[in-house]
Amino acid sequence: MLFGRHTKNPIRIPVKPVAKWAYTTCGYCSTGCSIEVGLDAHGHAVTARGVADAPVNAGKLCLKGIFKHELFTSANRGRVPLTRERSYEPFRETTWGTALDKTAAEIQRIQSTYGRDAFAVVSTGQIMTEEFYTLGKLTRGVLGTNNYDGNTTLCMSSAVSGYKRSFGSDGPPGCYDDFDHTDCLLAVGSNLPEQHPVIYWRLKEARDRRQFPLIVVDPRVTVFAQMADMHLPINPGTDVVLLNSLAHVILKENLHARDYIAAHTSGFEEFSKLVGQYDPTTAARLCGIDEDSIRNVARLYGKAEAAMSIWTMGINQSTHGSDGVVAINNLNLVTGNIGKPGGTSLSITGQCNAMGTREFSSCSGLPAYRALENDADRAFMADYWGVDEEFFPTKRGLFQTDIFPAIETGQIKGLWLIATNPMSSMPNTARIRKTLEKLEFLVVQDAYADVETTQYAHVYLPAALWGEKEGVFTNTERRVNIVRRAVNPPGAAKPDLWIFNALAKRFTKPAKLRFPETPAEVFEEMRTLSNGRLCDYSGMTHGAIEKNRGIQWPCNAAHPHGAPRLYTDGGFQHADGKAKLIPLPFVDNNERPDGHYPFWLNSGRVVEHWHTRTKTGKIGNLNKFSPTPYMELNPSAAERLGIRHMEYVRVVSRRSDAVVMAQLTERVAPDAVFIPMHFHECVNRLALGLLDPHSRQPAFKQSAVRIEKIADQKNAALANLVARAY
Ligand code: SF4
Repeated sequence: MLFGRHTKNPIRIPVKPVAKWAYTTCGYCSTGCSIEVGLDAHGHAVTARGVADAPVNAGKLCLKGIFKHELFTSANRGRVPLTRERSYEPFRETTWGTALDKTAAEIQRIQSTYGRDAFAVVSTGQIMTEEFYTLGKLTRGVLGTNNYDGNTTLCMSSAVSGYKRSFGSDGPPGCYDDFDHTDCLLAVGSNLPEQHPVIYWRLKEARDRRQFPLIVVDPRVTVFAQMADMHLPINPGTDVVLLNSLAHVILKENLHARDYIAAHTSGFEEFSKLVGQYDPTTAARLCGIDEDSIRNVARLYGKAEAAMSIWTMGINQSTHGSDGVVAINNLNLVTGNIGKPGGTSLSITGQCNAMGTREFSSCSGLPAYRALENDADRAFMADYWGVDEEFFPTKRGLFQTDIFPAIETGQIKGLWLIATNPMSSMPNTARIRKTLEKLEFLVVQDAYADVETTQYAHVYLPAALWGEKEGVFTNTERRVNIVRRAVNPPGAAKPDLWIFNALAKRFTKPAKLRFPETPAEVFEEMRTLSNGRLCDYSGMTHGAIEKNRGIQWPCNAAHPHGAPRLYTDGGFQHADGKAKLIPLPFVDNNERPDGHYPFWLNSGRVVEHWHTRTKTGKIGNLNKFSPTPYMELNPSAAERLGIRHMEYVRVVSRRSDAVVMAQLTERVAPDAVFIPMHFHECVNRLALGLLDPHSRQPAFKQSAVRIEKIADQKNAALANLVARAY
């Protein structure tokens, strides 16, 4: 096909010989784009396209989605199970039977020697909800370890915690359609155009139509900040101060929704007393912005007919991430902006199925938002699964970020990692490496054999990728969408559901506890269990989901086509039916720049890559557009340090050091640097990652570093290659 000029040097787009299109949902981010994979006459995936009638993306895909089909043939896919006795020996290829027998035997040995909780399970936000549910059943109903969590603690646990504290339950109350109704949008700590490009496209289209004000709060001049009407470049870690101060102005100027507050919230008196201390003059000094900006934004937000807030990791990945989420919810509650078109508090989720794990994996509780701490919920699930109620713990166990320290102290001896890569994703890489070396048994289950963490494993189980199996994902706006199998997994790789079921067969379990083999059968259990719950799937089927290109929960007799918004009647999930207004004193406990480490270190994403590059690092075009770990450095700081544009520099923190290429730009302040999160042996070597007390999420974005000039640029380039090699 010719594109552009047709005579001299025309641009040629190869026409792919597609014999059939397979419907799926993108397996990278939580936007939830509907994708069709084009298969040739031999069943090979040759292209991908957005689905034109999908409500989420209307045919659009971002760069990652466009090349999604290339994943099926990407390098270093796991094709056969691997085992070894000691982690420094070479792996041997083996059969599924041997690998699973060994895994089951090691789990049993560790649990019978040290106790059930001495074996931990850490999963992901990337597998199907049916798989999450089955893993939860295996872990809670058979293994009985309470040290079970997902890597979503690194990205979304502050949002979960904040929603629970404010509204009494997890579950984002809004939807993308709110962009078409809002009169003011506040985005805090989110670089939407790079993180979630198709959600940004939805927002941009809505803004082009209606021109509502967009305010972006971010210490960095991100792409999103450049598109905004107002950019508030606050000092790192001062978001709660700003949000308290916005509420201060709104209350002081009588812009709050008195009737809504009286009818649907509790705690107003304590809340108003606390925000009374956050006058704009004081707040502006702490935040490093001018006080009139605070007043202007508060007035815009308070006077808007409908106003909404969105946020991502800039809020969540903080020592007070949960408080940041609650502060955003507070702002929306006092202005009556929850559950109405254009008025909401919408966390933009990270991974494609971070929502699915929250709903059904039983990591932090029991399926369909049931709580281990609730006697009735424990009794219900014990009866449904046919397990002894006493087998369930009465409160959740360790979060992922507490599981690794528990390995350090010898409390945990064995670990099962499922589609997660802590050697790259956890802060303080050196500490994680030592931790993994201490394990008596590590099993890594992943689609890629070369995932960095596999270096420390005793067993590797090759898993199928998205598009090689079936099941559902839930996106940011609670839309459940389906992935159909487009191609078969390579070699002997198996769907995660098959692996969980095969492992379950190797344990003694109660007679009633069944492990259905097909995703459709598992989905039936999820429908039944969610009936009457907030995340109600009871009105959905796999077929209806595909036909509608996704359905938003709750979907039941009252909402047969799903529901775009939660809390539309002002009723919340706390026992009194009200939302809580929670006073949030500012606690400044981050590592801060000082004389030895004078720069704030911030991290984030680039549009070309996904998380630890296990997938996108193997896609030619994505690597071509973003090949190198780099650091944004302000030109005035660079001049002071004698550093030139594109020169390699050493970045040093109290934990370790990393070699990166300096990119001089005024996107960062003179006392701050930014490094993308994606590259192995890079920014997470440097990060401290102090934990939020509520969500246990690490503060990836608030560490202190110094920058050293490197005389030998040739060797520096080699050191930089280490981060690129993976
Ligand atoms: Fe996939 Fe997210 Fe890109 Fe959509 S925006 S194509 S879901 S990576």
